Amino acid sequence: MSKIICDFCGATDSRDNPVIAGDNACICKACVTAANEIMNGNLPIEEVENKITPTEAKEIKIKTPAELKKILDEYVIGQDRAKKVLSVAVYNHYKRIFRHNELLNDDTELNKSNVLLIGPTGSGKTLLAQTISKYLDVPLAIADATSLTEAGYVGDDVENVVTRLVQAADGDIKKAERGIIFIDEVDKVARMSENRSITRDVSGEGVQQALLKIVEGAVVNVPPKGGRKHPGQDALQVDTTNILFICGGAFDGLEDIIKKKQGANVLGFNQDKKTKNDHDKVLSKVEADDLVKYGLIPELIGRLHMVATLNEITEDDMVHILTEPKNALIKQYIKLFEMDDVKLEFEKDALKELARLAIVRKTGARGLRSIIEDIMLDIMFDLPKYKNKTVTITKEVVLKTKEPKVA
Ligand code: ADP
Repeated sequence: MSKIICDFCGATDSRDNPVIAGDNACICKACVTAANEIMNGNLPIEEVENKITPTEAKEIKIKTPAELKKILDEYVIGQDRAKKVLSVAVYNHYKRIFRHNELLNDDTELNKSNVLLIGPTGSGKTLLAQTISKYLDVPLAIADATSLTEAGYVGDDVENVVTRLVQAADGDIKKAERGIIFIDEVDKVARMSENRSITRDVSGEGVQQALLKIVEGAVVNVPPKGGRKHPGQDALQVDTTNILFICGGAFDGLEDIIKKKQGANVLGFNQDKKTKNDHDKVLSKVEADDLVKYGLIPELIGRLHMVATLNEITEDDMVHILTEPKNALIKQYIKLFEMDDVKLEFEKDALKELARLAIVRKTGARGLRSIIEDIMLDIMFDLPKYKNKTVTITKEVVLKTKEPKVA
């Protein structure tokens, strides 16, 4: 069933702002009111856009996939394929919302391009979602699938994620209805299957079903002002049809499912020669039926059209992550030092050692921040003392066997 959408501002039909359908066009209550004011001479036409719906007026300018990827490149190291997939998905998504008029006399239905990101922890899945939402200036809600329950069970029910999105949109329902929801660790709510452990939470499928509902598009009741639901209070209604869902997960063990299908000997003689590269290559071949085997319900997979795999972060990547992104940790420290008239330098070996320590932690690039914070603490404490000097961080400083060089 297709939704009625106002042809003037793009609002979807809702209880607060009903849309009237004519023979060739539709109009919502807000636009009728604004039109009335124009007719009565109370509102200059050029102000209409702002008057109708502030968020609609700030309509997201649809950027091309290449433009979107360029932004992602500024913040996310590597993960080229995932960046491309996400850029195309986001482009199609907002095209589908903002250019729906072109489809009115057409039978073609554009499906929503929700995204599934498969990659190890700390490889940049959340970062991708955060970067794209920040750049598009759309609200983002992040939830962990393992903390979700079916409605009515103790825990955070799936619909609360929509409430969080409304909060991220400062209570602006329209803005929330075009936002992004990132659900992490969807692999952890896979139902039991031949490859899964028996201890797997059996309610996983229930959570998937509940997720499916909002991913497909449902009207969710959200408590006003984002507070708790009270029986006496009128709930606000949020339509999730145009919300972009990005799901993420590490999917440990998926590689073996894919290999088995390919007829490869999973326990082959060359196991010890297995490299990260092989692992990433196998995963990139993932298909829908592998995910079904893993325990995702086919209906949910069917709604996550765009699948991308992210590579494990290598030591080299870590060094790039430390130094290259616009908000790279090293750049931030250099700036902080500069503000105290101190020049900060990192020797190449120091960066490599930081990268190595992060790899040992097995938390992907996530580990970098706490490692570097720990090392920099004492130096930061004495920062004013180094005024007009150059402080150089060596490998030994990272290993905590020496003080930094000061010149
Ligand atoms: P996950 O894949 O578990 O969602 P995150 O995106 O939360 O990982 O990564 C954690 C942190 O590690 C990020 O906030 C960012 O600082 C850093 N990071 C991870 N991957 C990358 C990457 N590919 N490029 C730049 N920084 C990254």
